[in-house]
Amino acid sequence: MLRHADWYRTLDDKRVACDLCPVACRLLDGRDGPCGTRGNRDGHMQLLTYGQVAAAGLDPIEKKPLYHFHPGSEIMSIAASGCNLHCRFCQNWQLSQGKAPGGQSFTAQQIVDRALAEKSIGIAYTYSEPLVWYEFVSDTAALAREAKLKNVVVTNGYLQAEPLRRLLPLLDAANVDLKCMDDDFYRGVCKADLQPVLDNLRLIHEAGVHLEITNLVIPGYNDSPDQLRRLVDFVADLDPDIPLHFSAYHPAWNFDAPATPVATLEKAAGLAAERLPYVYLGNVRRAGAADTRCPGCGRMVVARSGMSVRVDLDASGDCPDCGRALPFRLA
Ligand code: SF4
Repeated sequence: MLRHADWYRTLDDKRVACDLCPVACRLLDGRDGPCGTRGNRDGHMQLLTYGQVAAAGLDPIEKKPLYHFHPGSEIMSIAASGCNLHCRFCQNWQLSQGKAPGGQSFTAQQIVDRALAEKSIGIAYTYSEPLVWYEFVSDTAALAREAKLKNVVVTNGYLQAEPLRRLLPLLDAANVDLKCMDDDFYRGVCKADLQPVLDNLRLIHEAGVHLEITNLVIPGYNDSPDQLRRLVDFVADLDPDIPLHFSAYHPAWNFDAPATPVATLEKAAGLAAERLPYVYLGNVRRAGAADTRCPGCGRMVVARSGMSVRVDLDASGDCPDCGRALPFRLA
């Protein structure tokens, strides 16, 4: 499906400047962006993966992870291959780095029709990096919104502000990776800058999009008490009601640091609990690590075990015992 990109400028000598993400590529005619989703063809930025769905499935919303957004529901999840970051530890590198088998071609309307047929609450753009699949995501999200479906992105948050502002009115929820509060980590391990991610987290939250944050904890790289405390402080200063997920890393792609011990995640959760009431552990089996208790009275309000979820909130999403308002989106 031939389509030009939304965010580029043609320069002299048929070069193009991409304005979609902070990598800010300048591409000669015939060259592709490092994200694998767009390339310069005769002085225009052509989309290489528009409508090419490399992975699709109906997932529990908890798998995104989103724990405070329609808990216990299922959402149709789709992805193209490609990513604008090249994190050496990527846990999904075959897809993000374009090494997975090629996808199947869909129109935006076909995706919406399939989500409706599967009785999904909406569409999650996930698995790889959806924001570099921007044009297909925004076309599909507009149709999904008309069909009263929810739009969810699971993203590294690495986009220019203007394209993000344009997309936000179509989004209902986002889980954003905040990998570390050190710019050196972003530069050295991900070939990116930290600041755009922090700015975009603020933009997403201020736009009223439901926001959860995930931190993949890698031993020896981003798990010092100082690093964890600065990350927790950023989230708490943004809004202490934002759920924070600490996720266990496993050696993958170009990274062979040992897998994250459960004790490291517990240490992170202990630090976070000083300022955040909704802290969860992912990619590990540990009783209670994924449950939500009311911070007011301690009552279990959402019990999660594997992908089984028991929701015990009142009709407005608040605590059924003490009536405390809880930050859940149910509508
Ligand atoms: S979206 Fe792709 S081509 Fe555009 S600036 Fe980012 S990495 Fe480069």
